[in-house]
Amino acid sequence: MRQSRTTKQKAILEEELATKKTFFSAEEFYVILKNKYPQIGIATVYRFLHEKVDKNFLHSYTCHRKALYSLQKKAHVHFYCEQCHVEKHLDIKNVDFLKNEIPGEICHFQIDVKGICKKCQKD
Ligand SMILES: [Zn+2]
Ligand SMILES: [Zn+2]
Ligand SMILES: [Zn+2]
Repeated sequence: MRQSRTTKQKAILEEELATKKTFFSAEEFYVILKNKYPQIGIATVYRFLHEKVDKNFLHSYTCHRKALYSLQKKAHVHFYCEQCHVEKHLDIKNVDFLKNEIPGEICHFQIDVKGICKKCQKD
């Protein structure tokens, strides 16, 4: 039986998604897919990713005003220096301190911390 175009696209999207081990944007995801499967449209990619987020299969974060996605429930933490405007990503895995404050169950989280970096403190 011949597969419909939608079924085939879906399979390609699923296959590519399964290879993702870290954060990625919809645009990056689209570029990779487009190379392998030129017929694919960016709207299809967005729709697919949004569906996955709705099903809690994919987790979304905001990074530099753009959405990032990850298959794993990760922590996305930024430290932004208000003086030199440099933004750093921090690797924080333990959020036990938040557990009692959250009126529900934590899925994944994102924290934006603002301050003055060490370099600027010295100046
Ligand atoms: Zn989540
Ligand atoms: Zn980020
Ligand atoms: Zn700074």
